[in-house]
Amino acid sequence: MNEKTEKLIDKKGIRLDGRKADELRPVKLEVGVLPNADGSAYIEHGKNKILVGVFGPREVHPKHLSRPDRMVIRCRYHMAPFSVPERKSPAPSRREVELGKVIKESLEPALFTELYPRTGLDVFIEVLQADGGTRCASITAAALAIADSGIPMRDLVVACAAGKVEDTVVVDLYDAEDKLGAADVPVAYMPNLNAVTLLQMDGTLSPDEFEKAVSMAMDGCKKIYALQKEALKTKYMNVKEEIKEENEE
Ligand code: ADP
Repeated sequence: MNEKTEKLIDKKGIRLDGRKADELRPVKLEVGVLPNADGSAYIEHGKNKILVGVFGPREVHPKHLSRPDRMVIRCRYHMAPFSVPERKSPAPSRREVELGKVIKESLEPALFTELYPRTGLDVFIEVLQADGGTRCASITAAALAIADSGIPMRDLVVACAAGKVEDTVVVDLYDAEDKLGAADVPVAYMPNLNAVTLLQMDGTLSPDEFEKAVSMAMDGCKKIYALQKEALKTKYMNVKEEIKEENEE
């Protein structure tokens, strides 16, 4: 299928991957997947596959990066060489450094950084497979990994994008729509505090389209938030089962 000549969305409003405009890709979330990390999570968001490991609050090295009044958050976003069709250099690219910063800033408002002076929280994001929207999927998984580590949080953070393909505003763009579409608006959101922690826009939208895109992205966030809560609950239900089995032995 040649995606360049094919229309990204047909007359009936069905997208190239079979979704309707307001339909998310399938999302699968799991927490506590890395025993060696303090907290961890794995997300499959459509064809995106991303693993997050969190360490801290712990001593910061080099020490001069620590702050006397708060915890510093460091976030490394990295794409594996096999995560995209052409081999990607394992060295950090400009885009990866920027995404690390953007993701860190979208997570920070959810944390009580002032409670952990002179410490650091390290968030390692490994994109194993990428198919558009990895920053959003990374934020969703990183917030879960932090929650899994047991640090108190003001709220979870969940992210989803919306954008425009042909003349239609659609939610959760995959790679071809991201590259060939007219606009992409990633949104990260704290659902209980009703606060946006990331809002970016790539491309051009009219004010009405922009409003529609933000609202569709927030609806997407709310759906993914329900899955985040489910993933955390599942981990604790499994722990409960294990304890029960141990007591029975
Ligand atoms: P996001 O993944 O958050 O949408 P971008 O808009 O920068 O971030 O990237 C869109 C998509 O482009 C990525 O999800 C990935 O599928 C693809 N991509 C990014 N970097 C590369 C690369 N070096 N080679 C091939 N594809 C890439």
